[in-house]
Amino acid sequence: MDYLSFRNFRQFERTRREIRLPCDLLLDQRFRELPDVWKSHLLCLLMLAARMDNALPVNPHKLESLIGATEPVELEGLRPFVRYVSLDQPCEEDRAARIHIPDSVRVAVLVRDGGRCRRCHSATNLEIDHIVPICKGGDSEEPNLQTLCRRCNRRKWKKLVARI
Ligand SMILES: [Zn+2]
Repeated sequence: MDYLSFRNFRQFERTRREIRLPCDLLLDQRFRELPDVWKSHLLCLLMLAARMDNALPVNPHKLESLIGATEPVELEGLRPFVRYVSLDQPCEEDRAARIHIPDSVRVAVLVRDGGRCRRCHSATNLEIDHIVPICKGGDSEEPNLQTLCRRCNRRKWKKLVARI
């Protein structure tokens, strides 16, 4: 199962009840070139993304009903601003950033967590997980990292999408 996620959502995110709208968006050529209907859809979807932890359903009809659209939502038009995230590959940015966790930090996290998954205490197939994903503004510092087994890590992402 896939979901849609705004790129660089951090610049818009404020709380689950509010978004921040940088005025520079008006200067962004990709935004300027959108038909007005798509512009308004984009803004509504940003608000929706704030409420859904930046994990939107890929289904346009579902999006239309969630934002109360009277015109069809064209996902293709929003492409420069969103990316498709697959559950099998949790988050492309997250995966790239994982490479940047220095070995010393990995070891420190594993030792801190007793070499076991923090959720089910399994000692096999361990992965270092970003508690707050990189794509949601998390970093690769030790306090934001935890040891999870592969199964619990996948389950964490399924739960995220189940909120949709
Ligand atoms: Zn586990």
